[in-house]
Amino acid sequence: MSEISPPAELARSPAPEEAPAPAASPPAASPPAAAGFVELGLSEPVLRAVAEMGYTTPTPIQAQAIPSVLMGRDVLGCAQTGTGKTAGFTLPMLDILAGSRARARMPRSLILEPTRELALQVAENFVLYGKYLKLNHALIIGGESMTDQREVLTRGVDVVIATPGRLIDMFERGGVLLTDTRILVIDEADRMLDMGFIPDVERIVAMLPANRQTLFFSATMAPEIRRLADAFLQNPKEITVAPPASVATTITAGLALVAEHDKREALRRLIRKEDVQNALIFCNRKRDVDILYRSLMRHGFSVGALHGDMTQPVRFATLEKFKAGEIRLLVCSDVAARGLDIGGLSHVFNFDVPVHAEDYVHRIGRTGRAGREGHAFTIAAPEDRLAVEAIEKLTGVAIPPIAVDGLDPVAWAEESGGRRRGGRRGAKPAAKKPEAPRKGKPGREGEPRSAPAQAAPRGPSRGPSRPARPEGEDGRVSVPSPPQGRGERVGREERVRGFGADIPAFMLLPARKSSPAATISEPDEEEAPE
Ligand code: AMP
Repeated sequence: MSEISPPAELARSPAPEEAPAPAASPPAASPPAAAGFVELGLSEPVLRAVAEMGYTTPTPIQAQAIPSVLMGRDVLGCAQTGTGKTAGFTLPMLDILAGSRARARMPRSLILEPTRELALQVAENFVLYGKYLKLNHALIIGGESMTDQREVLTRGVDVVIATPGRLIDMFERGGVLLTDTRILVIDEADRMLDMGFIPDVERIVAMLPANRQTLFFSATMAPEIRRLADAFLQNPKEITVAPPASVATTITAGLALVAEHDKREALRRLIRKEDVQNALIFCNRKRDVDILYRSLMRHGFSVGALHGDMTQPVRFATLEKFKAGEIRLLVCSDVAARGLDIGGLSHVFNFDVPVHAEDYVHRIGRTGRAGREGHAFTIAAPEDRLAVEAIEKLTGVAIPPIAVDGLDPVAWAEESGGRRRGGRRGAKPAAKKPEAPRKGKPGREGEPRSAPAQAAPRGPSRGPSRPARPEGEDGRVSVPSPPQGRGERVGREERVRGFGADIPAFMLLPARKSSPAATISEPDEEEAPE
């Protein structure tokens, strides 16, 4: 694996001399600290940073977790991305750590994340929330220079944000000692389980002192997750929050049935016809991500690509450009898109019909903003009939056919036709069968070191799930709303300038009991045969 430095500005918090000194009272320009956060017992520098983020009210997980963490209690949080859980553990950690200094190679706290992207997102949050504190952090993730990471650790860090595999590598090479690590966060435990990281996590936990504080988060509490929580936590404060709310978002869906060789042409025509502000374009295979990306480039579109085989700096840079609105279209694979704080898009295009019907729900849930309309177009070839039927069965609504001007109409292939995962014909699509657990592949996203085959089995609540029932007609489908950012809402007619601009869905909408997003299986990203 190539070793590349993380973007310098993300590797560490501002050096003490660069960071503005904490002030006794906020400067006139700072917005006032929100009363809801003041009551939680956070310090002034943290409150100031929170106010500058535009947060006015703590989310339910924050309201419950922050006082407990500040008291030194273990926390067991059943919460998923989009609930504000990252600030729920980061804000009080910053306050706890602010009191004393880091020692060389002995981080004082550790945050474990299943993927590099999530680790990076947490690091970004750490920098934002900790901007008025003299704390630093190290990102210990695969795909980056181990030498650079080692150097940062040697200087002494307050927080290590790591994926399990790389952290163990670092430990084995003597780059890090965990005997002084008093706070441990295990984030997205259910995804760790899916990706086969639990043996690594158990190894890491065994290296930490027994008298640590542990904060454990998972979107689901399958028995295997509960077993881990029982093993890692002592008398935890248990917090369960509703998933990020459903769904004032209405998604208008459409299905373009075209000949296989017309798919790229169909996509271009659809993009040109639509008022696309920003869109994810999903392919089933990494190889096709590359091909489609190059094709769209050649046709002059503003486009980037994201999949698991790209080097880390390229992925980060592409993502930043897309979030900043410098790239309008992002061609991606399911795994590359998963877990990223990307939502509220004007359009989602399925260049390939997803083979797992649940992926359809997950993909199109990226479009639409709370209360606004999103568009999800799926391009199908004649062999995709069974996969489309599986989606329609799952969502309970037919995807309305749309014609693409200038392309010849085609019909579905015969009954026996069907596209197996990755495009081979003549087999049933996986979505028609009960799904076997799909596991992470070693060396992928978060670099599992243990063979996935040895991973603990998937808990029952991660199996195939039912999405929200349709709430409209004419192909308008309700799906779980994607994680939303903060701040001002942006009209469809305005240019979208990133993903920090929405009020989170959980602040706007009534909570629901369950969300398919909590139970959708994690696909691997195997290169399927042609
Ligand atoms: P998370 O669940 O931690 O991934 O957070 C989801 C999104 O909610 C992120 O974009 C955060 O910036 C945002 N967020 C977190 N806490 C709050 C809050 N109290 N008010 C508004 N937005 C928040």
